[in-house]
Amino acid sequence: KSDLVIVYHRLPYEEVAENGTLVRRRPTSPNGIIPTLLSFFADGKAGSWVAWSVHDPALGAFETHTEVDTSRYARLRAARVQLTKDDVDIFYKRFSKEAFWPTLHTFWERATFREDHWQVFLKVNRLFAERTAAEASENAVVWVHDYNLWMVPAFLRELRPDLTIAFFHHTYFPSADVFNVLPWRREIVGSLLQCDYIGFHIPRQAENFVDVARGVTPLEVVDRGGCAPRFLTYGCAVGLDEMTTTIRVNDREIGLGAHPVGLDLGRVSEVLKQQHVQKRMEDLRNELSNTRLVLSVERLDYTKGILEKLEAFGRLLEDHPELVGKVTLMTVCVPAAREMTIYRQLQTDIEQAVGRINGQYARVGWTPIQFFFRGFPFEELVAWYAMADVMWITPLRDGLNLVAKEYVAAQGMTDGRGVLVLSEFAGAAAELRGALLTNPHDPVEMARTCYLALAMQKDEAKDRLQKGYEVVSHYDIELWGREFLEAVGECRKKRLASQ
Ligand code: UDP
Repeated sequence: KSDLVIVYHRLPYEEVAENGTLVRRRPTSPNGIIPTLLSFFADGKAGSWVAWSVHDPALGAFETHTEVDTSRYARLRAARVQLTKDDVDIFYKRFSKEAFWPTLHTFWERATFREDHWQVFLKVNRLFAERTAAEASENAVVWVHDYNLWMVPAFLRELRPDLTIAFFHHTYFPSADVFNVLPWRREIVGSLLQCDYIGFHIPRQAENFVDVARGVTPLEVVDRGGCAPRFLTYGCAVGLDEMTTTIRVNDREIGLGAHPVGLDLGRVSEVLKQQHVQKRMEDLRNELSNTRLVLSVERLDYTKGILEKLEAFGRLLEDHPELVGKVTLMTVCVPAAREMTIYRQLQTDIEQAVGRINGQYARVGWTPIQFFFRGFPFEELVAWYAMADVMWITPLRDGLNLVAKEYVAAQGMTDGRGVLVLSEFAGAAAELRGALLTNPHDPVEMARTCYLALAMQKDEAKDRLQKGYEVVSHYDIELWGREFLEAVGECRKKRLASQ
């Protein structure tokens, strides 16, 4: 039994079939969350990691429990929830992306709500809760991650009233006007209110949750929390520095916190030192010597504002013909899984927009938009970050945006003079001082801000970058994990004292 149980949709290792057997590898994703969560178990602390796994009978019997990495995390084990491929397709790849993702990101008119998919979602969440209940020791802390597992707290509370349940919301959380469109909002909010602590990236999202919860149940704000100078108060669409930190519902207190996810700075600095990355940077410097580089990196998703950015780039070239031949927009767009059919049309629209703009402006030896429709390894990305004159991140809505932080980190570590142009609608805008903020819904303003970034004096760019680098290097991923667990620990103390 474990005192700390992590409930995350993914396993903390990658499984690959090699010559008829399953081989486990450390995750290759640059996302620092998994290593950070693993680090809680580095000192031999006992723990469990609950995640789903699809079993291939050709590879032997399904193992409910597996070691994660005994050399590093001696007493951590993975507790696997066995799902069929169909369950995963519906629960993870379709329902979450078709119903919840659009609504959470304020694109509710794109959402489709299917009762049969909701039933699969409930089934999977119940399985997660049952596995978690079996893993947790008396009065343990359970940390549930993200909207795919929204219903876990409700099922878990029924099974194990003794547990301290914490939840971290990794995406945007919209205002009540939007969230209330969800047919199952009462069940979802009711489940989240079974937690002892709920974390969001920024205060605006936590405040939105309070409004949503108020529409479902009588609620009292116990503590308004005061100002957290870390966050912007105004001047940005998602700014709000003061927030509610404790609410009371039916005599239960629930803590709320703003914890923007940070970076693993050590990883970025390690990558920058690698010889092949240094070489890549040098090659890029030579290749790009005649052109300024505007970089854009994101998954294929309508929330990321890729089409709007392409349109703004076309406008930039139209308004500033002197830039033709002098500026290249390099776009890295990571494709979505094949099952995620809602992205197909967007892909076609993007390809057409790239073709149109390139067709209109290209010259011999210069293509305005270099479009890469594939993911880059993190090492390659870091080399581009270090080289880009402007990082143009313009989501229409984003919970946080790690790419923006990674750019600031890579530039800061290489004494760069690059400029971050960031959408006001990304959570990171509430944190990243020094960025040039932009409104992705306004193509005229987007083009103008990109132009300002390209024209910015080196001293101002350096100054702005430094401001962002201070934020990124102080509030790193390790601090994120520690602060979150400390806040949960306080809730646990209160819970035990009141028993
Ligand atoms: N990423 C990557 N290769 C790519 C594009 C992105 O490794 O080609 C990584 C990037 O470094 C970042 C993550 O994917 O860590 C994207 O996180 P972000 O918060 O920006 O967006 P999300 O995809 O989570 O909405």
